Amino acid sequence: MSTMTAGQVLKRMETARFVLSYIDNQRSGRRELVLQGKTEGKHRAEHARVDILDDDGRLLETRPIDDAIAEFVFANFELRGDTESFSIYRSDLDSGHFDQQRSKRTAPAQVRHQLTAAEKSFTANGAKLWYHKPIFDKYRDTGFGSIIRATMTNHQVCASRCPFCSTISRNRKDAVTLQEAKDFVDRLYFDQADYNRKNFPEYNEAYKAATGSDIRLRGLILSGGGQPNLWPHFAEFVDYLSTLDIDLGLITNGFPQKVPDETYRHFQWIRISITPEDASPFYPDQRFDKQYMPELIKNNKDITVGYSYVFGPWTTDDILNRITQSLADNGFDYCRTLTDCNLTREMQLIAHRELAERLFRLGYIDALGNPTGRIFHQFKYHGSKPEAEELWDGGQCFLQTYSVFWDTTGHEQNGKSYCYACDSVTVLVDSDESGAVTSSERKFNHEKWGTVPNTEVSRLFTEPVKAYFDPRKVCTSCLFMRNNRTVKEIVNAPRDLSFEVPTGLQHLNFP
Ligand code: SF4
Repeated sequence: MSTMTAGQVLKRMETARFVLSYIDNQRSGRRELVLQGKTEGKHRAEHARVDILDDDGRLLETRPIDDAIAEFVFANFELRGDTESFSIYRSDLDSGHFDQQRSKRTAPAQVRHQLTAAEKSFTANGAKLWYHKPIFDKYRDTGFGSIIRATMTNHQVCASRCPFCSTISRNRKDAVTLQEAKDFVDRLYFDQADYNRKNFPEYNEAYKAATGSDIRLRGLILSGGGQPNLWPHFAEFVDYLSTLDIDLGLITNGFPQKVPDETYRHFQWIRISITPEDASPFYPDQRFDKQYMPELIKNNKDITVGYSYVFGPWTTDDILNRITQSLADNGFDYCRTLTDCNLTREMQLIAHRELAERLFRLGYIDALGNPTGRIFHQFKYHGSKPEAEELWDGGQCFLQTYSVFWDTTGHEQNGKSYCYACDSVTVLVDSDESGAVTSSERKFNHEKWGTVPNTEVSRLFTEPVKAYFDPRKVCTSCLFMRNNRTVKEIVNAPRDLSFEVPTGLQHLNFP
């Protein structure tokens, strides 16, 4: 079917969003299930193994894909979706039927885990929000938001084929110009500070006293498209940003050699996503630890450098051990490990439990879940409908009050694209009592979750915050409920509450 396929297509089916193919890959000598998005970008995810679980959800083995597994995946794909399909209960496989009555029995408390300073510092989980309390006083008293944190995806280019990709339906042509990127930052940096100095001097002074800054953009992450540093204007844009007083973070899965090493000097932190090793064309010998890394980021005390690793059927003890070695060899600071966010809550909790047990067996966490070295486990999992009802009793996402994520989906066609409160809207997934999965969209859908177009980003601080969508209807599996809850807690706290800003945390401007 596809010219990209190196092998014989043994079976194929189309759904509304995907083409699923069972392929005898003669180049790699293995059988694969290949998922291809039907949108213009036609991004692919290749699966060579599946997880086989016992009836309690314990991982028995990861098994190479064969005819029986392919048959089962095809038969249940419409029901189980593009992610869950690759975790299979052995009893279902043996009987040939997916047991829809299987109860959901995994609880967060079953996962060996401790929330440590590393997880609070290097991930967004709400812990750092108290540091910014005056902006929430302003919100409570006036209804106006303060965008202190932003993420930009300036293009949608990525060469990798990760099974867990959160934007598999993207269009490679959706990119912005350097001027559009600068304009976006200027509104949030200069205009927002002016606006707050003029209209909210009391809160602006309180924020300045607490943090040393006007209320304006404080932390900016360049992310998206797998490698934001492949965007043609990357180095020039970073040079521009370095003239402003903004903390910069970079999330990338590689380092194109044409970007000067010096560019990376301007980042406070860099997080390198490790893809499954057979999913990246630029890993020499399919080894992540052989990829090119700029010398400037190695053993550099001024830049926090970490890895991000998604646990799944592709995980081996060997790669976890090599991650540890690579952290030491390069003088990097941490590796956060987590699970595939496209899984449903139940399957994600099962995967988290397995990840924790693997880390424990290998000695990377202790019996209580405390990291013993630089690898930590980010215990991030989907919320539930009852939690959503209780949390958002006002029908509005609280991240809208301080955070913006600009994604360029649709930019080529419309000349503008949309802002969102977070990036997890691409991986929201639900399942009902019958086990039927409503898969994540794996793309940014502005009609459902968009707030304002990039050209009107100022409205996020010049107009009162309003509900652009009802999260109780479209975000019940939100991955940022803890952050939402913390904002609600701060907003509901007495204004004169004496509180302690959490100490010992880093990267405070990325709450
Ligand atoms: S997923 Fe959560 S944080 Fe993101 S927009 Fe929805 S409610 Fe807000």
